[in-house]
Amino acid sequence: MTYDKNSANATEFISDEEITATLQYAEENKNNFELIDSILKKAKPVSKGDKTYCKGLSHREASVLLACEDKEVLNKIYNLASEIKHAFYGNRIVIFAPLYLSNYCVNGCVYCPYHAKNKTIPRKKLTQEEIKQEVIALQDMGHKRLALETGEDPVNNPIEYVLDSIKTIYSIKHKNGAIRRVNVNIAATTIENYKKLKEAGIGTYILFQETYHKESYEKLHPTGPKHNYAYHTEAMDRAMTAGIDDVGLGVLFGLERYKYEFAGLLMHAEHLESKFGVGPHTISVPRIKKADDIDPSAFDNGIDDEIFKKITALIRISVPYTGIIISTRESEKIRKELLELGVSQISGASRTSVGGYTESIRPSDTEQFDVSDKRTLDEVVNWLMDLGYLPSFCTACYSSGRTGDRFMDLCKTGQIQNCCQPNAIMTLKEFLVDYATQNTKASGEKLIKEEIKAIDNQKVKEAVEKYLKRIENGERNFKF
Ligand code: SF4
Ligand code: SF4
Repeated sequence: MTYDKNSANATEFISDEEITATLQYAEENKNNFELIDSILKKAKPVSKGDKTYCKGLSHREASVLLACEDKEVLNKIYNLASEIKHAFYGNRIVIFAPLYLSNYCVNGCVYCPYHAKNKTIPRKKLTQEEIKQEVIALQDMGHKRLALETGEDPVNNPIEYVLDSIKTIYSIKHKNGAIRRVNVNIAATTIENYKKLKEAGIGTYILFQETYHKESYEKLHPTGPKHNYAYHTEAMDRAMTAGIDDVGLGVLFGLERYKYEFAGLLMHAEHLESKFGVGPHTISVPRIKKADDIDPSAFDNGIDDEIFKKITALIRISVPYTGIIISTRESEKIRKELLELGVSQISGASRTSVGGYTESIRPSDTEQFDVSDKRTLDEVVNWLMDLGYLPSFCTACYSSGRTGDRFMDLCKTGQIQNCCQPNAIMTLKEFLVDYATQNTKASGEKLIKEEIKAIDNQKVKEAVEKYLKRIENGERNFKF
């Protein structure tokens, strides 16, 4: 199929021919150091006045860097990823948690234990009352931002169930808790249903492509509606047509050759940017993991930690304005390394089973994947601060209507930092006052003092100080 990044047709904006040509071009140029230097130069942040810009990279340019095996170039990639991360995200890391609503699923995805043929895994769908209990448990940890997960099942998990659940989640105000942003990860659906999700006030619509390789995709999804590659791949177009500004991409690394997936992922981002004027809000980088009847060694394309780090750094360089998400599928060690190379959002204290946050009622026998990082949210917050990061529970852009191109315009000049930094400080303060252990509280208060000192704008600094006092006195949800 001829490559056309503006096409509405999946096999044209993710053209197999173009990916194959890209991989060949990358292979031919992997030792072309003159070209590699010019690509690295293009990706460097440029400052003009108080604004910082980054050009990003095309899928062809980024693929050349991915193919290059030179150690010095790798170091340059890491340094650049770290520089870009610092320029646009500072030291902030946004924290969220997944919430599994139902593991009923009619699809046959061979890498997921929720596939319809798995008769060993118990099936569970939360009632609205159970959702309430889960949300209270999440609020009591300190979470403000959730990602909803459900299997695809028009009978058990129809769109009305998802909409009711979102309504329930936003309505629960337990003690000082509140879920302020609900991101939604549900199966590809119709424009009409995306409009309903938009009206329900979702944050980001997340849908992992799993693999961009059409033939493999069809083999890995042998049965169910997800088998339809075009319908799945064009889902983000329908979501954006329906008015959802923020969409989240991702591939499941391990299913196909990583170089193929990487090029496809960037082409998808280029397509959205070109067609809708806004690239993906986030990109997730999951790797295949062990679960109920799933053995990751059955898949031939697993990637080791070194390749995984390189991919993450190159995503940071190629799409500098897109948040990168890493889940608790990964260990503390690899999460630490990836934070430095570009990850801007992490999940904490996650349970990947239906009802997992109220386990005294519900055992963890419905896990979608094994969790490697099992620490509490308080431990994750403390750990981030120890590493020099500022943990953030901020959701301000969503509630202030800063989504889609309005968000990207601020992001592309680095000006969003003027909101993110004070909001991170204030949401951390809320966490410290309401949920933290003594130890975390002490570290957090020290960090907040340092962060306030670092705010250049005197008016913002004074406002933050005032708001912090009001938070101590019981008020909540201040934002810039
Ligand atoms: S990946 Fe999603 S669609 Fe596929 S079996 Fe699992 S829950 Fe169902
Ligand atoms: S201000 Fe906006 S971009 Fe910054 S952390 Fe908050 S929600 Fe995210």
